[in-house]
Amino acid sequence: MSGDTRTGVGVSPGTVAGPVVQVAPPVRPPADEPMPTDSGAAVDAVLGALAAVAADLDERAAAADEHAAPILKATALIARDKGLAKSAGKHVGAGKGPANAIAAAVEEYAAQFEALGGYFAERVTDLRDVGSRAVAAVLGVPAPGVPTLDGPSVIVALDLAPAETAALDRTKVVAIITEAGGRTSHTAILAAQMGIPAVVQLHGATEIPEGTVVAVDGDSGEVTLDPDMELIEAQRVHRERRAQALAGVEGPGTTKDGHAVALLANIGGVDDAVAAGAQDLEGVGLFRTEFVYLSATTQPTVEEQAEIYRKVLEPFPGRRVVVRTLDAGADKPLAFANLGEEENPALGRRGLRLCQAMPQLLDSQLEALAIAARETGADVRVMAPMVATAEEASWFAARVKAAGLPKSGVMIEVPAAALRSRHVLEEVDFGSLGTNDLAQYTMAADRMEGELSDLLDPWQPAVIDVVAAACAGGEATGKPVGVCGESAGDPYLALVLTGLGVGSLSMAPKKVPAVKLALSLHTLDQCRELAEVARGARSATEARDAVRAAANPELTAVL
Ligand code: PEP
Ligand code: MG
Repeated sequence: MSGDTRTGVGVSPGTVAGPVVQVAPPVRPPADEPMPTDSGAAVDAVLGALAAVAADLDERAAAADEHAAPILKATALIARDKGLAKSAGKHVGAGKGPANAIAAAVEEYAAQFEALGGYFAERVTDLRDVGSRAVAAVLGVPAPGVPTLDGPSVIVALDLAPAETAALDRTKVVAIITEAGGRTSHTAILAAQMGIPAVVQLHGATEIPEGTVVAVDGDSGEVTLDPDMELIEAQRVHRERRAQALAGVEGPGTTKDGHAVALLANIGGVDDAVAAGAQDLEGVGLFRTEFVYLSATTQPTVEEQAEIYRKVLEPFPGRRVVVRTLDAGADKPLAFANLGEEENPALGRRGLRLCQAMPQLLDSQLEALAIAARETGADVRVMAPMVATAEEASWFAARVKAAGLPKSGVMIEVPAAALRSRHVLEEVDFGSLGTNDLAQYTMAADRMEGELSDLLDPWQPAVIDVVAAACAGGEATGKPVGVCGESAGDPYLALVLTGLGVGSLSMAPKKVPAVKLALSLHTLDQCRELAEVARGARSATEARDAVRAAANPELTAVL
């Protein structure tokens, strides 16, 4: 009989079983480290260790793909932070050995980051990773993190630092489990992008003994320890059945009765664009342009931007590519696009608000996009992030028009814009629901806070109500409304969204086939009924369960 089954939050679909490999815990500085006799030499040891960590991260960035490289580079910048080195030097001066001095400086910084919250709090994992690596370097012991894998492995960690996730051997890692992390954490986004099943928020995960075989279900979030052969065999049969069912759906997204729902890719740069361009999908529904510049220290020129946008657009001649203008700030800060520290960055001058304060930033991006659009023949549509009012939408649309770009749109990810979408949409050609932020702002729950995953669940009936309000505005104005948040890639929620009136769904490209299958098995009227079922529920769990129960059993049998 199968052993104990626990449930976390499934963030990247797929079922698989394999032995657990626990990620080596951080290296702690020895409590009995002697006081330095030569403080100059001790400071040199600290600086040498931090420099070695930075160099190692840079080296890995050079070998990493376009998702991982900026993250690794940003982590290397932490290791190079002069303030961190200076603070460690002070601790040496106060009598601490190099390992303890590094650890003390890191904890001081971590406390400051945690107090700032939001994006900074999320960087604490990266900061501690840098600290732990530097302590290991100073002690001359192996770096913490994922060990060399001998075969297929299920990686288990408290949380994976971006540097660790990026360095995972994709040929051996069959699943990822973390005890912490959230729906929109780096682990979740990178795992979905890599197509590796993943579960976050699994309590007690780090206590699972090394080598224990676990069966992971990245859809339901269930993890079974010591599964019996029956469960493993059932998973294998299920995997095959799923693959077969997904291979059978081709062409544009459409409901069973022929109602078109465009299925599009979320991308973050050139490699993603090339991969998505080769896939059976209708284009790009969200190009997160700020991802390209996460590690840039100065504003890219128009020519530099045009060069990248050209490469992103090239795989899509005649197909739609929705480009989101820079969404800088809060969880995605850019060194060259900020207005200084804020108390609450998620509620501050981010996204379009930042571009209104720095209009040249937006204009140079629009100019570069217009050049790339002319040269590639892609159907380019530009949209603004974090729009709250009709005035903002109008301001943005005028600038897009002035740049000679044909279509402008807005992300609807602030409840205010959803509730007044009939006025906001009048100003532009289309809207795209960013359900990640819409859930954050509707539920007043920081999307970086893993412990609040339940509140951030896009199945929350209140979030679905806000989506419905946005769709009503779309209908009233005749303007198309799509979804580009993570919720679009959930096949059951995709049905609900379609029933609410959403006309396009944009997601990690690997999620497209399952959504395509779900649509093909339901008529538009059935989608509308499922939307009613979801809105009638009193909780996210009830909504999800009720929609699953009411959906076509052919879908539940294969997903
Ligand atoms: C969203 O908020 O849902 C969205 C798609 O944008 P991002 O996740 O980049 O904020
Ligand atoms: Mg957003």
